[in-house]
Amino acid sequence: MSRATEVSRFRSLTTKQALATLIAGLVLSFVAGSIELVVDTRKMRDEVKSQTLQLLKLVEATAAEAAFQLNPELAEQVVTGLYSYNTISKVELRDDFGRVMFSLGSTDQVENALYHYLFGDILDYQHVLEYRVLANEAGRIVGELEITLSLQSLGQVFSERSLLVFVLSLLKTLGIVLLMVWVFAFLITGPLLRVYNALQTVDLEEPGKWRRPYLKYNKGDELEHLVKGLDNLLNAFQKGLDQRDQLHTLSSIDALTGLANRRHFDSQLKQLWLNAREDQHPIALLFMDIDFFKPYNDNYGHAAGDECLQEVAKILRSTVTRPDDLVARYGGEEFVCVLPRTDLKGAHQLARRLQENIKKLNLPHSYSECSDRITFSIGIASETPLPEETNPDRLLLLADERLYLAKSAGRNKIILKHTDADADIQSV
Ligand code: GH3
Ligand code: MG
Ligand code: MG
Repeated sequence: MSRATEVSRFRSLTTKQALATLIAGLVLSFVAGSIELVVDTRKMRDEVKSQTLQLLKLVEATAAEAAFQLNPELAEQVVTGLYSYNTISKVELRDDFGRVMFSLGSTDQVENALYHYLFGDILDYQHVLEYRVLANEAGRIVGELEITLSLQSLGQVFSERSLLVFVLSLLKTLGIVLLMVWVFAFLITGPLLRVYNALQTVDLEEPGKWRRPYLKYNKGDELEHLVKGLDNLLNAFQKGLDQRDQLHTLSSIDALTGLANRRHFDSQLKQLWLNAREDQHPIALLFMDIDFFKPYNDNYGHAAGDECLQEVAKILRSTVTRPDDLVARYGGEEFVCVLPRTDLKGAHQLARRLQENIKKLNLPHSYSECSDRITFSIGIASETPLPEETNPDRLLLLADERLYLAKSAGRNKIILKHTDADADIQSV
């Protein structure tokens, strides 16, 4: 099969599929990452609120005591302790008159619209402090603890978490892309390439003998069906070629004798003549005609005539055995023999052998005027084609004329030359 161009790596299905999966994966990972981020941000907000409230709960009693006792050292301890958390930007402890007992930090926040949008509403916490002297008495408001969270610190945590979410999402996507590419290459493009390579090796003269690819992991799937379809197609193609060859053989064979027919002889002779012209070797032609065959036919019947022709054909086939030689039925009871690389002497030897073998066949012919059995006359020509001779007409004419001479000379003769005919006349 003609070699198709190689599939470029950049145009291969694997590359296209990998690109498509990658793009789809990136979009999906972005969407999934964004959704995850929204959920995570909500979670983070809840965590921040509950952690801050827990922290306030933790220091509430001490802060209330500091406010109740108006104890600046204790107030400082509480405020400093809280301020040590880097998520807190300002802490202020006030007594019940609103006077600041101790304060650290400031409420200045970074200018970041996104951070403000996400966390602006959960930054400030004002916690009223109550104090009980006795455990069972009602609490008395003694002051207020105010905490302001650091927007920058929250934003930083948010940024780190976002990065993590996106990186994880991207890694998951890349993993899926790699898996998809491998599965696709393993189940589709790999086997497809094997089918393609097998098709490349198809011999157009023998398509049925193609090396059908073995797809181990594609049992029952579309690719196996494709291979089966191709196999059927190539086998049907092969059948057509076989029929063509059979027809060709039939059209070149004579039905009665099984020898080559006139048509095949004509085309072969032409080719063999051209070969001889090219190599400048002699090519010989024997023209043979059964003597007095008409009376044979008329007296023994047409069926006996046919049998006689078949017997003679057998003798020709068994006597002319060189692979390059060609024996054909020229028509009626005439036969021809083409002998490449054979001069007159060689052709003569073969003609004598033919006559001897026909004699040995010993087919009675009471109506022949030259013998009491079947005989035939042979005209021989052998020529080395001249450079300008593109067809074997001269060879045919010479052999035919010499056959006529053999007939004129009394039949059952072999004639090699026109001149000095008597000297060349041989009879068995
Ligand atoms: P000659 O010695 O001059 O060759 O005489 P001949 O009688 O052999 O030649 P002629 O051309 O007069 O007759 C040939 C005969 O061959 C005529 C025909 O009856 C017979 N013939 C031709 N083809 C066939 C065939 O296929 N089957 C049979 N049975 N006879 C055939
Ligand atoms: Mg004849
Ligand atoms: Mg004849």
